[in-house]
Amino acid sequence: MTVPTLANVGGRSALVDADGLAVDLATAAGDEALADPMVAIARIGALAVDELLDGAARLGAIAELDLRCPVPRPRNVFAIGLNYRDHAAEGNMEVPQNPLVFTKFPSCLADPDADVVLRGRAVDYEGELVVVIGTGGRDIAAGDAWDHVAGVTIGQDISDRTVQFAAKPPHFDLGKSFDTYGPIGPVVVAPTDQLITGGLRLRTTVNGEVRQDDSTANLIFDVSTLIAYLSAVCTLAAGDLIFTGTPSGVGAVDGRFLADGDVIETTIDGIGTIRNRCRMAAA
Ligand code: ZN
Repeated sequence: MTVPTLANVGGRSALVDADGLAVDLATAAGDEALADPMVAIARIGALAVDELLDGAARLGAIAELDLRCPVPRPRNVFAIGLNYRDHAAEGNMEVPQNPLVFTKFPSCLADPDADVVLRGRAVDYEGELVVVIGTGGRDIAAGDAWDHVAGVTIGQDISDRTVQFAAKPPHFDLGKSFDTYGPIGPVVVAPTDQLITGGLRLRTTVNGEVRQDDSTANLIFDVSTLIAYLSAVCTLAAGDLIFTGTPSGVGAVDGRFLADGDVIETTIDGIGTIRNRCRMAAA
């Protein structure tokens, strides 16, 4: 059985087969409503993916197609701070007793290959596993949480450290919500047993040099716990995103911030790679 995988190809939702070839979802299903990636996210759990892929025309390999943000209009974008032990330690921060929750404003989301437009001199990368809610709900039990997940993707939680810490207490949301500071993609992959029980390896490089290398198995508060915690406060909706936190290795620790021309790549095994070039905004 193919792991259900969605992409946004030129603004229309696509299924991706095991060979990385895309199929226009609405055409394959004979239902134009499914062309909207947000509708596809909400309905992916109920679709017979293998039947839809069988015999459908391929658009081409996703690596060569115009991939856009796979979840373009989420209602809420949650993010979690200090959710890997080594990352809390590198910043001399205490390990939180409860999830440290902030938001990235949805307007910061960008395509998986988008340029990151730098607007400061202390801007940092944070490669992260991002959860995409499929079936919304309130007061979701941790034991049921994965049933509410449409899939997972990769996110770059780009962070302006100057703005993040410009207020006391810090306002994480503003410093992490500049336009283009939330590239996600390349695809949304349904949760696999490997992800749920074993974790997935996550690596971030800058200009080819490895900066972050860890496993999502090392999340302090795991995905089930985060969904239970958030849904006790907010009703979650299809398409809501949760940036689950970044491992150690961010640039702030040794002052190696992003500069014009830098290329950030984050890979999560089983999902893919997002690659973003940094470009300093004109003064
Ligand atoms: Zn983060």
